[in-house]
Amino acid sequence: MKLSDSVSKLKGIGEKTSALFGKVGVFSLWDLLLYVPRDFMRYPEITTADSIQFGSTVAVELTLQTEASLVHASRLSILSCSASDHTASLRLVWFNMPYIKKTLHAGMTRIFYGKVGMYRNLLVLEHPKMFTREEYCKMLGVLEPIYPVTHGLTTDRVKKTIRAAMDEVFPIEDYLPRDEVARLGIMTLTEAIRILHSPAHEDVMRKARKRIAFDEYLAFLLSVKSMKEENNRSKNCFPMNESKSARLIVERLPYKLTGAQARTYEEILKDMAGERAMNRLVQGDVGSGKTIVALLAMVTAAEYGYQSALMAPTEVLAAQHASKIKDMLEEYGLDYGVELLSGSLTAKQKREAKKRIADGECRIIVGTQALIQDGVEFSSLALVVTDEQHRFGVRQRETLAMKADTDGQNGNIPHVLVMSATPIPRTLAIILYGDLDISVMDELPSVRLPIKNCVVGVNSRKKSYEFIAEQVEMGHQAYVICPQVEASDMSESENVTDYTEKLKGVYGSKIRVEMLHGKMKPKEKNDIMQRFAAHEIDVLVSTTVVEVGVDVPNATVMMIENAEKFGLAQLHQIRGRVGRGSAQGYCIFLNTSKSKEDNKRLKILNGTNDGFKIASEDLKLRGPGDFFGIRQSGEMDFRVADIYNDADMLKKASEYVKVIDEQSIRALNEFTSVDSHAQNITL
Ligand code: ADP
Ligand code: MG
Repeated sequence: MKLSDSVSKLKGIGEKTSALFGKVGVFSLWDLLLYVPRDFMRYPEITTADSIQFGSTVAVELTLQTEASLVHASRLSILSCSASDHTASLRLVWFNMPYIKKTLHAGMTRIFYGKVGMYRNLLVLEHPKMFTREEYCKMLGVLEPIYPVTHGLTTDRVKKTIRAAMDEVFPIEDYLPRDEVARLGIMTLTEAIRILHSPAHEDVMRKARKRIAFDEYLAFLLSVKSMKEENNRSKNCFPMNESKSARLIVERLPYKLTGAQARTYEEILKDMAGERAMNRLVQGDVGSGKTIVALLAMVTAAEYGYQSALMAPTEVLAAQHASKIKDMLEEYGLDYGVELLSGSLTAKQKREAKKRIADGECRIIVGTQALIQDGVEFSSLALVVTDEQHRFGVRQRETLAMKADTDGQNGNIPHVLVMSATPIPRTLAIILYGDLDISVMDELPSVRLPIKNCVVGVNSRKKSYEFIAEQVEMGHQAYVICPQVEASDMSESENVTDYTEKLKGVYGSKIRVEMLHGKMKPKEKNDIMQRFAAHEIDVLVSTTVVEVGVDVPNATVMMIENAEKFGLAQLHQIRGRVGRGSAQGYCIFLNTSKSKEDNKRLKILNGTNDGFKIASEDLKLRGPGDFFGIRQSGEMDFRVADIYNDADMLKKASEYVKVIDEQSIRALNEFTSVDSHAQNITL
């Protein structure tokens, strides 16, 4: 079998299972091998019967004192047995597992591994598994992978399927020559993948991860490199100077541009007037005011009679941009034609919109990247702006690919402006965005009051609701973020659907509560967002679809349920939705976990509003259990690589990319092209 073969080719994988795998983004065997565990479970050290605590999972060496007794109570069968070590005695219970009885004999000594529960007011071991001391010691220290799963697909199933895939395709031919692998001090691919799924301990795990990160970076850097070469040749086909309209807007804005905004705007103007096409990354923390800077560039292009395309990562954000730009241009009497390419358009509307774009009737086109790249023909595209470009890897490649596409259309390469709020160190940004010039907007508008934060536990929920009600009474609005769309049996975290109902119940009719999540139809989403922006909704219960870019300055409270489930950098993005106007903004992080670490991590957000500082603190505090966890919550498009943790691999890859030979490139391409399928999946 080949890596690119579908998982359905594996023995025992039918249509149903392969559809389940598809649901989690696994299509090919390669996808499967790179389906990394979300966490690892470890068997605990052996302890004594007197030191166990309710709720924990323990291993105790016990001798059975009696024969096991089996009783039936209605539909339940209860098997129980008394056991002890030299410190205390303890009851073992199994519900509805009568067949265990024949494996138990009075006087036998085993390691019992299970959860400490309560039965008839006594601490008991529930459904313990039995091992000999020798067996158990072998498992000690071994990390058992736990995979991200979906309803119907268990970790066990994933594990077995991965093992089957390994049997089929191992050893994988490494595109890196052996001596290079040794020189770079990384593992072979086969070794790395094997360890990824069954690491002996954390250190090797980390090393295995590094190897995959290296591959991901290398593939990415190669594409950047080829774009860069292409770009060096692209001269400025759309030279422009600052337009009258842009100057007019700057003069009449209700606020003064910050120093950083003015500087960035200058840099953009210089680029657009220069010898070569602009290729600039604007990095600025949430709320630093990137939109207006981009808009000024678009207005300038429009005055020259050219078109600009503004691409956003979500429909919600694209719709918001379009409506704000429309309002603004109208206010200043500028008639450039703004077109929103939205997923909620009917086929006919889409056709008409595309026609207006092709005819040059409109000069500012807004949409998601997918929509704009979906065969749109421009009459004179001079500027491509990508907003909230914080998904590295693939997204950037798409932006660049778009450039190449348009190049194919009329031979003129447009200016490119990329805006990102991801706080990555400049040195890394230079490598990652090797082909871009960088402007850093390190200043927030001074009219802003810093957001007031608090981390609270579940018993402060009621108080939080009251606080939101007060703010609503004062004419403000609020967001409540839940990690899930609907209830699931996999997790106990709050979900938007039930929560909205609950909150409607709490508030009654005087506060208007609505919900927003990614599974709603584009039209519904736009509708809700528009109504929220127009203050027809007071409290918006939402998933993280509002995470990026959404700008409703009248919203002052952000309450985040299960805050411990999110990465700090992501929480920082989410909280950036409030405190955007002149009124005081508040963020309530509701921590439902009892762990001290979680609390400590969340407290960092209390201490600072500086995105960069937060990201690096987050990294320091992440324990070994978070190998992959947090970053995967949607910030990066790399499956494994992490900008902070794997900075070393990024550097290695960036050096290697300079010396890599043609043959390896071809092998690598073959290798990475198999995963293109999964890369199209977004949250
Ligand atoms: P981001 O950088 O996160 O994309 P936005 O461009 O959405 O930020 O700007 C956030 C809010 O700040 C908007 O409501 C915008 O009108 C406002 N804003 C932008 N620049 C300034 C400024 N110089 N002074 C005051 N408010 C500003
Ligand atoms: Mg923005």
